[in-house]
Amino acid sequence: MSAPAIVMRPTILNPLFAPVGSLAGVGPKTASALETLTGGRVIDLAWHLPSGVIDRRRSGAIADTEAGRVATLSVGVIAHQPPEPGRRRQPYRVVCSDATATLVLVFFAYDATYLKKVLPEGGRCLVSGRIEVFGSQRQMVHPDHILPADGGAELPPFEAIYPQTAAIPSKTLSRLIAAALEKVPDVEEWIDAAHVSRQGWAPFRDALMAAHAPEGSDDLSPLGPARARLSFDELLANQLALALVRRHLQRDAGRAFTAEGRLAASARAALGFSLTRAQEHAVAEIRADQVAPTRMLRLLHGDVGSGKTVVAVLAMLQAVESGAQAALMAPTEILARQHFATIEPLARAAHVRLAVLTGRTRGAERTRILAGLADGSIPLVVGTHALVQADVQFRDLGLAIIDEQHRFGVQQRLELAARGAATDILVMTATPIPRTLLMSAYGDMAVSRLDEKPPGRRPVDTRVLPADRLDEVVAAVRRRIGGGDKAYWVCPLVEESETLDVAAAEERYRSLQALLGERVGLLHGRMKGAERDKAVAQFRDGCVDLLVATTVIEVGVDVPAASVVVIEHAERFGLAQLHQLRGRVGRGSRDSTCLLLYAPPLTETARARLTVLRETDDGFRIAEEDLKLRGGGEILGTRQTGLPAFRIADLSVHGDLLAAAHDQARLLLRRDPALDTPQGRAARVLLHLFDRRTAIRYLAS
Ligand code: ADP
Ligand code: MG
Repeated sequence: MSAPAIVMRPTILNPLFAPVGSLAGVGPKTASALETLTGGRVIDLAWHLPSGVIDRRRSGAIADTEAGRVATLSVGVIAHQPPEPGRRRQPYRVVCSDATATLVLVFFAYDATYLKKVLPEGGRCLVSGRIEVFGSQRQMVHPDHILPADGGAELPPFEAIYPQTAAIPSKTLSRLIAAALEKVPDVEEWIDAAHVSRQGWAPFRDALMAAHAPEGSDDLSPLGPARARLSFDELLANQLALALVRRHLQRDAGRAFTAEGRLAASARAALGFSLTRAQEHAVAEIRADQVAPTRMLRLLHGDVGSGKTVVAVLAMLQAVESGAQAALMAPTEILARQHFATIEPLARAAHVRLAVLTGRTRGAERTRILAGLADGSIPLVVGTHALVQADVQFRDLGLAIIDEQHRFGVQQRLELAARGAATDILVMTATPIPRTLLMSAYGDMAVSRLDEKPPGRRPVDTRVLPADRLDEVVAAVRRRIGGGDKAYWVCPLVEESETLDVAAAEERYRSLQALLGERVGLLHGRMKGAERDKAVAQFRDGCVDLLVATTVIEVGVDVPAASVVVIEHAERFGLAQLHQLRGRVGRGSRDSTCLLLYAPPLTETARARLTVLRETDDGFRIAEEDLKLRGGGEILGTRQTGLPAFRIADLSVHGDLLAAAHDQARLLLRRDPALDTPQGRAARVLLHLFDRRTAIRYLAS
């Protein structure tokens, strides 16, 4: 499928994609610091936009300057005052003046010879820096700039301030960014001319230059014209890439799975409940895709506990009854096993063989399952990444379902589907992604939404408590489990380190066990698969009533009898993640409680987050709030999400631009399917610029 000539980068872009080491004056140390700060390529510097701006225009007289403000002054150098001999701790002072007042330049770390040279006594200099007032004396500690004033030297009127690192002096960073910008070529316009002129946007290169040359805080706003244009560019690249992938997936006619639905009917009969209206609706939408001779590409989006699994099973049985195989891939072993447990009785009722394939499936069992998948005698399989290992082959995979979608990258999503010919794809996510993010992650994938929970679910009583009330919490938990409830106790993330997470959980496990006895269990990601299964099984089936866990329970663990969840250090979790964790309870008929423990003091944002959570149980509202509070990049918590990360665009403010980019991408591909017109070729450049070039290869097929 790859066609190198098409994927090849246009040569005008080569200097931009060179390593930063190709810029003058960048040695290995600077290169590695840049690698961390911005990325290791010249273009990464070009995308490193200013976070601030300093006005360096001339300030007039010393007497008119204000404390705390940056001033740029032309001054006469009166006298140097080195520290007294033996008093190295004292600063070096240079007294200057103009017609109105004196200004003392203060240096704590200094090179006297250098200062004498740049600030010669009796000379005139241009100095710029922050004014401080000490008694009645104005001073400037370590001026940012010192220039001889005689040659008519001037500073550029505005200076961009970049997010920086201690490892690179700010002047060096600015100089390197300027050097990187020189490598940015003029490019053809990829946005529709009408749209550009309606928005009043400058051409790409000019907009990028302008974004690096702010003339006031307005120019730093993500909604200012330069940044808005660049954000649109980035979103357009994102939407074009998604549209290309989608087109690629749909290029072959799909298959029509027209079975009448006998197997699904048997499975339904084995359910202990009837489907919700939302589930019925989703089942019907999916079935319509399956019956049609086009390839299904659909997202099943439903909050925790909305009942996606059943919908998935019915779709799988439709494919199987039509003579194909169906696979469900989950991101974790626990979840795969749980799906297996849910699906097993339904598959049995439909008389369909079902297998589970995970990293733990080994030896003879694995061989037997692989053989069954290859010859078609096993039509249904549930598993983890193990399903996309090289030696797994299907006789005829007709439907690939990918659960908890955000845990997988785009590539992994497609790998399972690539095991079959024109395989239908259904992705399921419990993450209540706002519409804007959804579009950025999936483009125009069709969406079925489960916007209703099964009947009988009651809202979870959510309380926020400081951690010093731990004793009360333990007492409450003791009471609840004494009354027949089951509880989760979630231990926090410790600085992204699984080892520390586990240590925290083990410690809490021991202390709770000391208080509550043998009914306390432990579950974390470092336990062996069989141990984990055992922990979940003991919790589900009786002998354990309190399960101390790390966030491994976040994804999909389903024990309906659980009705209490305690979350320690709730302030460290993302809002969406807290919602997922809370979603572990409120699944059965008991009144459920969620206790969010925090370590004071809370930041404003953390307080706002916990308040949102206390006030609503609506996953979509929570997601929207989270987006507002934190910006798109962080929406799903700190763990890797698989959602696209944007360099410039910020979906918490650029939602409208995303919608426009979406439309433009479709329009362009409709008019110019091969991206061969001047605008289409420009769009290829765009895809390269924003690192979406892998999408370009889908043009080849
Ligand atoms: P999720 O959407 O979070 O994956 P699940 O598919 O795990 O949700 O379903 C959550 C629980 O709700 C399961 O125990 C499932 O059996 C149950 N359930 C699903 N649909 C219904 C329904 N229509 N009525 C009652 N219970 C249901
Ligand atoms: Mg689920």
